[in-house]
Parts: sequence; C-alpha cells; structure tokens
Amino acid sequence: MDLAPLIRNVPDFPKPGIQFKDITTLLKNARAFQYVIDTWKCRYLEQNIQAIVGADARGFIFGGALAYAMHLPFIPVRKRGKLPAKTINGNFELEYGVDSVEIHVDALAPGQRVVLIDDLLATGGTMAATAALVKSLGAEIVEVSFLIELTALKGREKLAGLPVHSFITFEE
Ligand code: AMP
Repeated sequence: MDLAPLIRNVPDFPKPGIQFKDITTLLKNARAFQYVIDTWKCRYLEQNIQAIVGADARGFIFGGALAYAMHLPFIPVRKRGKLPAKTINGNFELEYGVDSVEIHVDALAPGQRVVLIDDLLATGGTMAATAALVKSLGAEIVEVSFLIELTALKGREKLAGLPVHSFITFEE
C-alpha cells in the first residue's frame, strides 16, 4: 500500500520553515491505519518482543494499537511532568533549548525485549533520549521504528548503534 500520499504536508507549522507531516489524514483512512499496524505486527511477530514502548504523543497512537494487536504491554515515555509515579528522565535538544522525557522506574525489567515506536524521525533527539531511558532500565532494544523518516535531518546518525526502521521516507 502506498502510504506517502496519505500524509498531509503542512508548510510553516508550527513555525515558519517547518514542513509538518500530518498523520491524521492517514489515521482517518481505516484501511491504511490497519495496514500500518498489521505490517508492524508481521515485522515483529517472530522476534520474541515483550513490550512496545511509545513516544509522547503520536507514538501512543501507533504504539498503543500495535501493543494491543500483538497482545503485548504498552509502555509510555512521556514529556516531563506527566507521569505520576517515580520516574527517571533524560534531556534532549530542540531547535531552541532543551526538553525532557520520562519513564516510570518500574516500567520495564532488565533484559525485556522491546520495540520503540514513534510517528516520525526528524533530528532523532526525541528517540535518542527515549532509547537512553529504556537502556538505563536494562531493557533490550530490538528495533526503533517510525512511520515516517525525514532523511535530510539525519536522525539515524543520532541513533547510531540501534537498528532503525521506517515505512515512509521524505527528504524533509
Ligand atoms: P526529533 O526529536 O527531531 O526526531 O523529532 C521527532 C518528534 O517531533 C516526533 O515525535 C514527531 O512527532 C515530531 N516532529 C518533528 N518534526 C516533525 C515534522 N516535520 N512533522 C511532524 N512531526 C514532527
């Protein structure tokens, strides 16, 4: 299924110069959404995956659906201040300043085999910080997977050493 035409490009959102990749146009196509989740599921079916980790917030849409489809636990990694119990956190760089992501300290067990899911790989900062949290809990990252990858931003370089997969690539 050709997914790229289902992603709406919104120029200059949320600020000038950004080509925002809007996934709501894919999500409202039930067949496409199901195709994405089913394809992800097939990819990881024989890999003894024990949990799906999703990045705040659109990673929850895909990661949550994938966890449900695979009968696996879903583990949210959230932006700072959203998780209620004891957390560990990690900073990452934004275009202007830094942001922080958190995971509950008891979210994953050492050796647990996980896949990390987000909607989009841009600079890789969000996922690098997410992966660092998952590793610091001792879990094993089988793959980091995105619906969309913006290749010009070279996010893969920031994720060096981790297996990275994406369904759709755009230059920017
Ligand atoms: P990054 O940390 O630079 O890889 O940015 C990835 C995160 O920011 C993802 O959670 C995306 O949802 C969001 N994001 C970054 N750039 C875009 C974009 N051009 N369009 C849509 N979402 C984006």
